[in-house]
Amino acid sequence: MYVGRFAPTPSGSLHFGSVVTAIGSYCDAKFNDGRWIIRIDDLDEERNIDGADTDILRTLESLGLHWDAQPIYQSRQKKYYGEWLHALSRKDDVYPCSCSRKTLREHSVFKDGDWIYSGHCKFHFTENQTIRNHRFNLRQPCTITINDIGQGLIAEDLYVTSGDFVVFKADGTPSYHLASVLDDHRLGITHVVRGRDLLRSSLRQAELQRALGQMTPSFLHLPLVKNEAGQKLSKQNKAGPINAKAPKKVLIDALRFLHQNLPPELLSSSIEEILIWASKHWDTSAINSRQADN
Ligand SMILES: [Zn+2]
Repeated sequence: MYVGRFAPTPSGSLHFGSVVTAIGSYCDAKFNDGRWIIRIDDLDEERNIDGADTDILRTLESLGLHWDAQPIYQSRQKKYYGEWLHALSRKDDVYPCSCSRKTLREHSVFKDGDWIYSGHCKFHFTENQTIRNHRFNLRQPCTITINDIGQGLIAEDLYVTSGDFVVFKADGTPSYHLASVLDDHRLGITHVVRGRDLLRSSLRQAELQRALGQMTPSFLHLPLVKNEAGQKLSKQNKAGPINAKAPKKVLIDALRFLHQNLPPELLSSSIEEILIWASKHWDTSAINSRQADN
């Protein structure tokens, strides 16, 4: 059975870009008679804002996006994540890294806008050093392929483009990638619909799933909503919340952004009716056919 999810970070209200993702993942799940689950990604305590989770859930409800199970909070799953650190360490899939912010630069190469870690501590870590992170021990080469419903097969050698990435902090908090993979596994997620900015995350997660012997879901990476300066809408560049007083307009705008061909007579219908139509006529080929520039 299809199980999809929407995973907001409670660091503020939903902006239009996140709403597009929520509506895209909801329609894809409902078109496939699937279940739709909400996961609150609240592991980064410094970014969490009190009450943002409730605010996000209310916004989703106002848009008619009703979830099929109690929302899951990542901060409440730490014990479960911790068990995997031991399992991965035993298999040599993970190694301790003592690099500080400063020495990390010395042991990394700058490539295409990213610092790629050389794997220094895999060979040089000694028992008396402080563990600052635990890194994933990538194979060499590490070509990984995922199947995106809209874009087809996407392949990359993670050893070259990513380097050994962090999977656990010293205090045992898992990285975004690992927590996401472990939750997807536990919740039986079969389809991940999210923004194209997370394409590389999907490749890393597929590699983690391979190492853990877990299923890799199908992916659909949606085009990104950009501001006038051409930047992706995000909380970092101060994207404002959606207009809570006009949820129907937000819903229609989001479906139009995804190039769903809403019949004009539907515009006077209720939110519920629009969503039923959108879920029944959900067209993934339309999303990408006219979005070649993203
Ligand atoms: Zn290191």
